[in-house]
Amino acid sequence: MAGKREENKITIVGAGLAGALLAARLGQAGFEVDVYEARSDPRGKNHVAGKSINLAISTRGFHALGQVGLADDVMSIATPMRGRMMHSTAGQLQFQAYGVGKDDVIQSVSRSALNMMLIKKADATSNVRFHFSHKCVGADLENGGCEFVVEDKGETVHVEGGLTIGCDGAFSAVRRSMQRLNRFDFSQTYLKHGYKELCIPPAENGTHALEPNALHIWPRRSFMMIALPNEDGSFTCTLFLGFEDKQGPSFSSLTDAERVRAFFERQFPDAVPLMPTLIEDFFDNPTGSLVTVRSAPWYYEDKFALVGDACHAVVPFYGQGANAAFGDCAALGDLLTEDSNSDVGRLLEEYFDRRKIHIDTLADLAISNFVEMRDHTGSQLFLWKKRLERTLHRLFPKAFLPLYSMVTFSRTPYKEAVDRAARQWRFVRRFAQTVGVVVVILIALMLLK
Ligand SMILES: Cc1cc2nc3c(=O)[nH]c(=O)nc-3n(C[C@H](O)[C@H](O)[C@H](O)COP(=O)(O)OP(=O)(O)OC[C@H]3O[C@@H](n4cnc5c(N)ncnc54)[C@H](O)[C@@H]3O)c2cc1C
Repeated sequence: MAGKREENKITIVGAGLAGALLAARLGQAGFEVDVYEARSDPRGKNHVAGKSINLAISTRGFHALGQVGLADDVMSIATPMRGRMMHSTAGQLQFQAYGVGKDDVIQSVSRSALNMMLIKKADATSNVRFHFSHKCVGADLENGGCEFVVEDKGETVHVEGGLTIGCDGAFSAVRRSMQRLNRFDFSQTYLKHGYKELCIPPAENGTHALEPNALHIWPRRSFMMIALPNEDGSFTCTLFLGFEDKQGPSFSSLTDAERVRAFFERQFPDAVPLMPTLIEDFFDNPTGSLVTVRSAPWYYEDKFALVGDACHAVVPFYGQGANAAFGDCAALGDLLTEDSNSDVGRLLEEYFDRRKIHIDTLADLAISNFVEMRDHTGSQLFLWKKRLERTLHRLFPKAFLPLYSMVTFSRTPYKEAVDRAARQWRFVRRFAQTVGVVVVILIALMLLK
């Protein structure tokens, strides 16, 4: 594809959340889209369905889902979470609403069901074709297109150019090829913590064993566990814990059933009776790592673009990774569909310029929210700060918006949200200082009388 989009052909690598959504968007707009995915077809009978793993989807994600006509369908399989439910080691519960308005809820959605819906939506468009079991092994930067290994046949195929969009996740093969380009920036940073998914099954009567409309958190300073509700009455729990820790518990010290049970009984005593398969899950499920990926630029000429985790994986503590990937799809989809006469290379540059600064901000926010969730959510200071935020918002609804609300319940670009929150707090601090000074002067005057 050179200059103007004479050729209507798009190749998408990866049929995960971003790849499938983008395929639906571009297919609906009339592009000829071929999607290549390393895994087998999740709709096929040989596909092994994973355990119920969920994601928090919020306003940004629903906006992009709405663009392909899926917002209501996804909402129909979602479980709303109205706030955080904190669990102390003594088993005491404390609820903090997420938002300031009644519609400020985040939605817990099954990752596999969402992916399936997106694939079906894209596939319903006659000009989108899926090629499963095709693993990308490299991009042809000079001529465009990619090499794929067809997993079940062991053969390699070359797919010719058009615009190729890498949606192949944090360890993207398309990005790996682009990393060889002169002046391509790339960094990946791992947290010292890993994660393990565990399960709380439905109660005997089939209902949720904990409050269903909340995201449950067991904050324990250097580590934490969270649980998100599933539609079937179960919860997916995720333990975030250091890989190694000389001073405290870590994945490397939890080596046998006895230690695991003792650790859970000490730290999460109210959860243990609800986790009958705790030990099996702990040893059967892998320990995942948490990576932040930054790269630039997210395009090469008019031949390649990167979307979602392929260009910017963020750690999951703001629940925004998939929402941001969907935001990329909306931004790139808007540019490619609304401005069909423009030079594709220029549109890709515009896409990168619009998104990069905001996603860098999100990456920092996500890391700082980890500290907030595990260290502060249980503290009185944190609760007072949240109360103060809500009160200020009630008193000055237009002037004061909590950062969490702007990130989660609006589409305000991430950096604008962070800058605005900083301005608001500067103003509150100055106002408090001024009031303090006036009070001191008044007291001094009264004493001098
Ligand atoms: C523990 C955890 C919890 C999370 N919770 C949330 C949350 O609550 N809310 C939220 O918004 N985000 C969350 N995220 C982030 C979210 O999962 C990702 O941001 C999102 O999945 C990114 O979508 P993607 O399509 O870019 O990548 P992926 O979902 O990783 O999809 C990539 C696709 O590409 C395929 N692929 C990979 N390599 C190749 C190849 N070489 N050739 C062909 N295909 C390939 C993969 O099989 C996959 O289908 C969480 C992440 C983690 C780790």
